[in-house]
Amino acid sequence: MMPVAKSVSVGVIGAGPGGLALGIFLRKAGFRDFTIFDREDGVGGTWRINTYPGLACDVKSHLYSYSFDLNANWSRLWSGQPEILEYFERCADAYRLGPHLKLNTEIISARWDADAAKWQLTTKTGQRHAFDIVVSAVGLFTQPALPDLVEEEPFTGTLMHTARWDHSVDLRDKRVAVLGTGSTAAQLIPEVAKLAQKVYSVQRSPTWILPKPDRAYTEREKWLFARIPFAKKLYRTRLWLRSESNIGVIENGSEKTQEFKGIALRQLQATVADEELRSRLTPDHPFGCKRLVFATDYLQALTKPHVEVISSPARYLRSRSLVTEDGAELDVDIVLCATGYAAADYLGQIDVVGEDGASLHETWSDGAYAYLGMAVPGFPNFFMLYGPNTNVGSNSVIFMLEAQARYIVRTLKHMRRKGKSYVAVRPDAMATFIAKIDEWMEGTVWLTRCSNYFRAANGRVVTQWPRSARVFWWMTRRFTAPDYTFDPPSQSTGPHVDARSAANR
Ligand SMILES: Cc1cc2nc3c(=O)[nH]c(=O)nc-3n(C[C@H](O)[C@H](O)[C@H](O)COP(=O)(O)OP(=O)(O)OC[C@H]3O[C@@H](n4cnc5c(N)ncnc54)[C@H](O)[C@@H]3O)c2cc1C
Repeated sequence: MMPVAKSVSVGVIGAGPGGLALGIFLRKAGFRDFTIFDREDGVGGTWRINTYPGLACDVKSHLYSYSFDLNANWSRLWSGQPEILEYFERCADAYRLGPHLKLNTEIISARWDADAAKWQLTTKTGQRHAFDIVVSAVGLFTQPALPDLVEEEPFTGTLMHTARWDHSVDLRDKRVAVLGTGSTAAQLIPEVAKLAQKVYSVQRSPTWILPKPDRAYTEREKWLFARIPFAKKLYRTRLWLRSESNIGVIENGSEKTQEFKGIALRQLQATVADEELRSRLTPDHPFGCKRLVFATDYLQALTKPHVEVISSPARYLRSRSLVTEDGAELDVDIVLCATGYAAADYLGQIDVVGEDGASLHETWSDGAYAYLGMAVPGFPNFFMLYGPNTNVGSNSVIFMLEAQARYIVRTLKHMRRKGKSYVAVRPDAMATFIAKIDEWMEGTVWLTRCSNYFRAANGRVVTQWPRSARVFWWMTRRFTAPDYTFDPPSQSTGPHVDARSAANR
């Protein structure tokens, strides 16, 4: 028998909304021996790292916050980055996570030591830390994807990705190209247009844009939220239910997609008077196959006299210009890449090695997969938050992260109760889960012919959760012990099915 775990130690990689939620639940459940690593100098993840002008949430703030720490003071329907960062920093303080944080510490590898029944985490500076359990909370959008630009001549201007915003760069009176058409570009361009002399919006393909009727909460509303706690609970529940009712938006050709497409087209018609520009801004991909963009001032900004839409992807850089695929040469001082993240490359920057020296990256060579997005056979005592197939299409990521963090804590509580120190998901449970995901994925709009960040190289949709948030909550509401083995391989007696071959179909 494995030794009985008395006090389990947990290493969490990432202090974003997910890692913090897990820390809070661990503390509440009486687990005190845990460390949350982050390579940044503070908590908040996405909301600390990204500071480009215009960054705000596209999920209403009362829903994009922890269910156990509702905030009466959100200033607007969709808050901006500084306020969201402040919220998560406050939560980290309020739940006394400070002593558990190890900041400015990047983890580069995680190796399972079967003899010691522990994970060894190695930091970039070569330090090692051993834990009974490791949870990756590295997020989905931490690895910026740069455009494929050929530097024909050394570019003498400024080139930066929006995830690495340099606030010393002055946009005033500059000629600026913004590459990309996703949420970031839609938030950034109106802000850049306020300062720059000339703005080029360089587009490979336009995106469907839905209105974002943002406004500040009135003092009366905030008073109500503060004085009557039930009011904010009720309000949040209403937002959650409304999000759930929009789940049809992930189904190809559904009424919901038609309804939303109509709204997007009407906004385009009402905002862009020039017919030629309007046709260039009308996407030809099915509604919803890329992440939806919510913006009201973006299309307006594109119609300004000093803003030009270039409907051809950027290809080359010369000393002070950008050349697009169709040969146009744009004189620019600054190139801003709002080109997204390598989201499908799960844990791409950490070398994870499990049982029998198996590398997680090799295991996932045909696309990442995990049981409930959290556990992989052969990688015992290892869990993920925001792992494969958990990116929800129509609800709050925070809701999903909470569900996962609770599930992981339930797992640890089960182990504590039963005196177990080893847990690994069974291959047959994995295979059944993958079959379900594949079945549910059929008919979703993500499988249509359209390029998006949801797919692995072989085309498999690896980031998206193909059902509602409610279904995920239901599936994770209890820890299902029969789906796991609690004995290391030599002692395992359970059935062995190769989950990988099922996953790689
Ligand atoms: C610009 C931008 C805008 C977004 N807007 C929205 C939005 O409007 N609505 C929405 O629902 N979602 C949005 N998202 C998604 C957002 O990432 C999630 O909602 C949420 O932040 C996920 O939380 P997380 O804790 O899982 O990951 P993150 O917030 O990404 O945090 C992960 C943390 O892990 C750390 N980390 C990563 N690798 C390592 C390592 N090797 N060692 C140590 N630390 C590491 C990072 O430094 C980071 O602090 C946006 C993402 C981006 C990038």
